Order: sequence, then C-alpha cells, then structure tokens
Amino acid sequence: MSGERALIQAGVAGKVGLITGSTSGIGLATAYVLAEQGCHLILHGLMSDSEGQALAAEFAEKYQIKTFFSNADLRDAKSIYEFMETAVAKLGSIDILVNNAGIQHTEKVSDFPDEKWNDIIAINLSSAFHTIKKVVPGMADKGWGRIINIASVHGLVASVNKSAYCAAKHGIVGLTKVVALECAEMGITVNAICPGWVDTPLINKQIESIASDQNLSYQQAKYKLVTAKQPLPEMLDPRQIGEFVLFLCGHAARGITGASLPMDGAWTVQ
Ligand code: NAD
Repeated sequence: MSGERALIQAGVAGKVGLITGSTSGIGLATAYVLAEQGCHLILHGLMSDSEGQALAAEFAEKYQIKTFFSNADLRDAKSIYEFMETAVAKLGSIDILVNNAGIQHTEKVSDFPDEKWNDIIAINLSSAFHTIKKVVPGMADKGWGRIINIASVHGLVASVNKSAYCAAKHGIVGLTKVVALECAEMGITVNAICPGWVDTPLINKQIESIASDQNLSYQQAKYKLVTAKQPLPEMLDPRQIGEFVLFLCGHAARGITGASLPMDGAWTVQ
C-alpha cells in the first residue's frame, strides 16, 4: 500500500458525520470530501427545506450514502437539540461532528451593533457548545468520536474591526482544549482548524469594501486583502480544509487532540 493511500484511509466509511453550515463554502466542500469516502451525512445550513432536501438527495444518490438535511437556525439552542435528535433517530448516531457554520461582521468596537455581536457569539461559538454537549454521550458509548471545530487564524491572533469574530474564535479554541481533556479517555479527539483566507462567500463583503474604498477591481481587492497579513499570497481552496478534516478523522491523527492547527500560510508565525 502506498503512503498516500494509507493517509487517505481514514475509516470514515459507514460512519455518520454532522457538518454545520454545509450548504456553502468550507462546510459544503468538507461534505463532498467525507461523502467520497462513504461517510453518511447530516447536512445543515440556511437554505429552504426544498433546496436542502434536493441537496441531500443528490449526495445520497451520487455517493450511495444515507443523508439528512436540517435548516435549523443555530442561534436557537432548542432547535439545535431538536434537529440533532431527529437526525440521530434517522441515521443512528453522530460519529464525526464538524462545527463549521459561521458569520462575519466587521466594524470598530464602538460602532459594533449589539445584535451582530449576539449573532456572531451564538453562531460561531455557542452553537458548538450545544452540538458538542449533545454528541459526547453517544460518542463515549461507542468509544469513538471526532470533533473538529473550524475556528480561524482569528482564534489565535487579532485584527481590527473583528471584536465579535475574534472573541468567538478565541472562545472556540478554549472550548476545544477543555473538551479534548474531558474526552481524552473516551476515544474521542477534539481539535480546531485555524484557517487563514479561504475562498468562500463569507469574505465577499470585505473584498467589496476594499474594492470600493480604494477604487480597485474585485480581483485586485482580493489580492490586497489576502496579502495584507498572510505571507502565502493565495486563498485556500475550501476543499483543502475538508481534506484536513478527513486526516483528523484517520488513524494517523489518533494522538492529535486539543490542538488548534493553523492552515494559515505562515500568518501566525510572524
Ligand atoms: P460561508 O458563508 O460560505 O458558509 C457559512 C455557512 O454557515 C452556511 O452554510 C450558512 O448557511 C451557515 N450559517 C450561517 N448562519 C447560520 C445560522 N444562523 N444558522 C445556521 N447556519 C448558519 O462561510 P465559510 O467561509 O465556508 O465559513 C465556514 C467557517 O469557516 C466559519 O466558521 C468561518 O468563520 C470559518 N473560516 C472561514 C475563513 C474564510 O476565509 N472563508 C477563514 C477562517 C475561518
């Protein structure tokens, strides 16, 4: 067996993965990576029920896996618990949890709207507490689980105008460490991935605002945004995050837990 094959052999076939925010960007790309390996999927995100069911049916047919879709709003803990219970009743368990859903708002702290602060903390941080709280007992019963939190480089360092985002992402890094300690003897690993720039709709507004403020084309503004802090002068492809998630589910990553792992083109080494 080649080394490459051994790395890919993550053993996720037949397991059930829940990826929050898997209707777009990093979450959707991660869903494809896990589905290709035969992992059953709980898809989730803000999309109409009919669109979500169509997406779930497409995955089921293409990859011959079981799927479930929910558009539960992650700002509401009760909705989170309810959709997870329904999903487990349909698919049997949740073996892999990827807390990925997130939003962004950039404004200086003195002007930052209270409701944006509350939404960012709820979606980017508190929802991960609720999903983790709900999955740990089932994973512990099975003696196997993988919890992967999509944090950010902003879980490790700060940037101006991102008070809520940085607070939430630093928070999820702390949550990752605590849950890793609590789950260390249960066969459950808990890690955070901390990406730099990833090419998804999340960052469109930031690019558009640089383009209009500095009279640049969208592509020029994108380059300016990426290279302002990240030495690697390119955005990551969302699929690269999905492939890292797959690696963390695999045998080689058994000893990696409680880690906050930068994928940031050397941003945080400076
Ligand atoms: P995206 O905008 O493409 O996707 C966000 C997902 O979250 C969507 O599926 C959306 O429906 C879901 N979502 C948003 N609000 C929700 C709510 N109230 N209830 C339920 N679902 C909700 O964004 P992305 O770039 O793929 O971001 C995914 C994660 O990666 C986020 O946590 C983000 O902070 C993180 N991240 C992104 C980048 C980047 O450069 N794009 C960098 C570092 C970290």
